[in-house]
Order: sequence, then structure tokens, then C-alpha cells
Amino acid sequence: MGHSKPEIDELVGAYPVCPQCQGRSVVRDAWAEWSVAAQDWILKTVFDEFVCDQCGDSIHPVWKLDQDFRKKRIQRLNDDMRAGTFRHGSMVLTAGVQALEDKLRAALVDQISRFDAFTKDNDPHGEHDFGSIEIGDKKFFWKIDYFDLKLERHSPDAANADVTHRVLTVMLAGEY
Ligand SMILES: [Zn+2]
Repeated sequence: MGHSKPEIDELVGAYPVCPQCQGRSVVRDAWAEWSVAAQDWILKTVFDEFVCDQCGDSIHPVWKLDQDFRKKRIQRLNDDMRAGTFRHGSMVLTAGVQALEDKLRAALVDQISRFDAFTKDNDPHGEHDFGSIEIGDKKFFWKIDYFDLKLERHSPDAANADVTHRVLTVMLAGEY
């Protein structure tokens, strides 16, 4: 089974750039059709050609990724995952966490859902994918990993909730 990596223009945050002027005003001709339901003109056909609005030339755009946009999307999806809102996801409690008293485990899960003490040190990539929590004399970690929907490989695009199964793992610090 081949691993089909998505093309860059299929990734969240992709945008076309003019190879001549590096500008982002790449446009295409299209036909729109009136929709009674939408009370608006809806795109019907987008033609193959790309034109740079700045140069006025027909071009072959270069696709780039807006990494800041991707980071913010991943961050939001991870925050939503901890808060219990997700399209595809699951929570894994390690043996040590499963063995906790119910009350302590419930307090831990609650604190993870509300955790927001992110810093440059504990969240260097800005993805909100890791945190540590102390309750009493016990220290815990939580982390979020990105898998494909079959849980066989890494997600093809962690910024896309449709193709990513997020796994939130909760562990004792000593189990890391
Ligand atoms: Zn241009």
C-alpha cells in the first residue's frame, strides 16, 4: 500500500503565488449561475487558466503554505479536542491514570479540559499539544497526537479535522 502524501494545494492553509512577482493576487476566470435558494451567484465552472492580477499575465502559480494559519487551526482543533468537541478523536488513559481513585481521575480530566497555561517553553510550536498538571503531590502530562482515520499512520494534514483522528493521552509524569 503506497502512502499517498497530499499535494500542497490540498493542505489547509495553501495559497497560490505568482512565480513572476511573488504576489498573492492570482485569479481565474469562472462562470457563475444564479441560485434561487442562495439568492446569489454560485460558481458553476472555474476555468483552467491562472492569471496574475498584478502582472496581467497568464501564469502557472506556485503553491505555498500559510504556516501561521495552519498553526492557529491546529491549536484550535487541539483546544476543542480537550474540551470534548471533535470530529474524530479518542482519549487514552495510561495504566497509572486508570489506577487512580475515581475522584482524582475526574479532577485530572477536568483540569486538562480547562488547561491554558501555555508558554514558549512548554508549547514551542504553538500547537497546544502538550501540557503538565500537578494535583497534590502528583504530576501528570497530557499530549495530543495526530493519526489518519484508520489509526495506522500520521495524519496527512493535522490542520484538517476531516482527515485526522486526534488521540489525547493522559499519563503520570513517570510514565512518559
Ligand atoms: Zn505576478
